[in-house]
Amino acid sequence: MKIIRLREGKDRSLLRYHPWVFQGSIAKGGADAGETVRVESHEGRFLAWGAFSPSSQIRVRAWSFDEGERIDATFFGRRIQAAVSMRQRLAPNSDGVRLVHGEADGLPGLIVDRYGDTLSAQFLATGVERWKGVIADVLLATTGCKRLYERSDASVRQLEGLEPVKGWLRCPAGDEARTAVTIREHDWQLSLDVAEGHKTGYYLDQRDNRAHFAQLVRRFGSRSVLNCYSYTGGFSVAALAGGATEVISVDSSAPALARASAHVTANGFDAARHTTLDADVNATLRDFIQQGRSFDAIVLDPPKFASTAAQAERASRAYKDINRLALKLLAPGGLLLTFSCSGGVSADLFHKIVAGAGADAKVDGYLLQRLEAAADHPTTLTFPEGEYLKGLVILKR
Ligand code: SAH
Repeated sequence: MKIIRLREGKDRSLLRYHPWVFQGSIAKGGADAGETVRVESHEGRFLAWGAFSPSSQIRVRAWSFDEGERIDATFFGRRIQAAVSMRQRLAPNSDGVRLVHGEADGLPGLIVDRYGDTLSAQFLATGVERWKGVIADVLLATTGCKRLYERSDASVRQLEGLEPVKGWLRCPAGDEARTAVTIREHDWQLSLDVAEGHKTGYYLDQRDNRAHFAQLVRRFGSRSVLNCYSYTGGFSVAALAGGATEVISVDSSAPALARASAHVTANGFDAARHTTLDADVNATLRDFIQQGRSFDAIVLDPPKFASTAAQAERASRAYKDINRLALKLLAPGGLLLTFSCSGGVSADLFHKIVAGAGADAKVDGYLLQRLEAAADHPTTLTFPEGEYLKGLVILKR
């Protein structure tokens, strides 16, 4: 077993069960990519078992803080079973569920989403990459699913020195062509493609917020709704379910918009109430303002503008801009659901950005609610970095 010795004073974060060891904290020791190492304090005290990552700034990700625990197939069995049991207790109103959420489930770098009978996973760090075969077997045994698609084509793998990978990890012979699956989310049928969709195929983290939006649209009687960064139209279906009569989905992905239109009719809503716009959101908001249009409700759910705190400033300007435009475009008494999924932008900072956007637009609003990711995308006490999605519900005055 290879030993990683930390520098003096650098043991504090592992002692608090935070799972990351940065390169600068290490005094000596090394190992191969994904190899299990024993991390010790500068005086040789056991701190954690972890996976070594030779090229990442995060040089070790901890598997366990228990010296007696062995990192083997049964370890992954225990961790995955615990993660799946937690989701069974949550019982989300959907058969699309995030089963494993990386560090929060004690499995750094592993993301697993279940879409009906199909699992879709990302292996984003050297440790889970090395144990991929074992993890795949455990996932099938724990869930009873026979199909596991790998979507390790995320750019963060580069930081770990890993190539992008995409394809079936497990699939019964002859079933490989079926990458499209349908899930039931709340009362809605939604389809996605694990091979072609974004991330693992769909954005499960917004599930509760979509249901909530349907209720808000109904409660406030919103008729015209602009769903910006709509992807496959989850919030558009929610708006129609809430009674909206004119919904526009705006996205820069034509395949996503085609699916949004299909979702409207598949769920029994009048296709005449929904239109799609394959366009840039910022330009669209400006056009609509110029045309003198207004909306009763607007959703802003942009992609990640900042991956790191260092990019937060440029991202802040981008968030401020779209929120300023949306607040202008909103009818008095209208609803704004605005989100940020940038880990580098805190909930506090996001609130300040939106407040600044309101000031620039000369618009005030009631802050009705703060929103976050659904509970199957948990944050833990020991790993606050896991918090990424935050949203505000604003009622324009
Ligand atoms: N609200 C969606 C998820 C949005 S993900 C849901 O509930 O499922 C962000 C989306 O923004 C992606 O679909 C991406 O195609 C789109 N996008 C990214 N940049 C864009 C831009 N400049 N203009 C319009 N859409 C954009």
